[in-house]
Amino acid sequence: MAVHDALTAHGPGGLRDQRGRMLRDLRISVMDRCNFRCPYCMPRETFHDTYRFLGTHERLSFDEIVRLARILVRLGVRKLRLTGGEPLLRPNLTDLIGDLTAIDGIEDVALTTNGTLLAKHAFELRAAGLQRVTVSLDSLDPQVFMRMSGGFGGLEEALNGIEQARRAGLGPIKVNAVVQRGMNDHTVLELVERFRGTGVIVRFIEYMDVGNRNHWRRDLVVPSRELLERIGARWPLEPLQPAYRGEVAERYAFADGSGELGFISSVTQPFCGNCTRARLSSDGVLYTCLFATHGMALRDRLRSGASDEELLDALRVLWRARADNYSEQRQAARAEEGTRKVEMFYIGG
Ligand code: SAM
Ligand code: SF4
Ligand code: SF4
Repeated sequence: MAVHDALTAHGPGGLRDQRGRMLRDLRISVMDRCNFRCPYCMPRETFHDTYRFLGTHERLSFDEIVRLARILVRLGVRKLRLTGGEPLLRPNLTDLIGDLTAIDGIEDVALTTNGTLLAKHAFELRAAGLQRVTVSLDSLDPQVFMRMSGGFGGLEEALNGIEQARRAGLGPIKVNAVVQRGMNDHTVLELVERFRGTGVIVRFIEYMDVGNRNHWRRDLVVPSRELLERIGARWPLEPLQPAYRGEVAERYAFADGSGELGFISSVTQPFCGNCTRARLSSDGVLYTCLFATHGMALRDRLRSGASDEELLDALRVLWRARADNYSEQRQAARAEEGTRKVEMFYIGG
């Protein structure tokens, strides 16, 4: 039954949203808390010591997450990414990974982390079946890193985490750096130099207007084009074809064969047309866009006896109705007064 649904979800008559997009990827936020306060994501003035995060019972249990993942596989999901908040703060995460990798139809399970707790967990994550990690690391300059983590530091821990992940075989490892003008844009070449030739793929992310609290300004966005020119002037680059349909990063190879780089340009070159992602928050709300203002609350349905078929039907209707393309109409969407977007830490990146 599950396999039949999965096949039809991908066939010509399979599940598509209003813009003809399939459902392929699910990002699961397993933890709303974080041990950083990156100003572009969880600024301290809002996420202070007395901020009320979710209680343990408000978060989906592992069984609930696995149940939803199984249902979403029947609608087309093939790839899972665990995120947060900081996913490695969730106790016993390896148990969840073991259960998710065992789901029939799942081809890829990855994790996005700030890397500070990765060294400790890398080998057990790999043993549980995790395939790849992405480590967010915005700068190698300790002072810049300190500022961009909201005063927490942890650069050495994150670098050590990358090294242990490499040893554990959690590759290809990606390093994601959000670039903000006047903050870390002067340190990008150093980051490229450090990982060039190591097999680690650095990807630069344009600073986005996620949530409502990060004081986003367009002039703080460094367009990928600009970075490409600066990096290309130092190390000649050649464009690469996307590795798969719907890949969000534009890839470039170093002309001297030292590996590749990526750019994620959701502000200057939106990729909504290929967006096949859904996002599940830690308390069980499913969102069909990173910039959504509301989603489908599933936790109470899960806990009040809804059957798999009922959940499947509701999710199918949700995806069919999906028309999100926020990044393609950012200007107009931002001008709309009173729209409250979901916060990034709550649904993951
Ligand atoms: N804590 C983990 C981490 O930092 O990797 C996982 C969650 S974090 C929300 C996921 C990704 O979102 C990170 O790579 C982070 O840099 C990115 N992110 C957060 N706020 C962003 C923003 N305003 N613009 C662009 N990327 C952002
Ligand atoms: Fe935490 Fe990641 Fe957000 Fe930084 S980007 S505050 S590490 S969730
Ligand atoms: Fe997908 Fe929404 Fe981002 Fe567009 S803005 S790529 S629809 S998550």
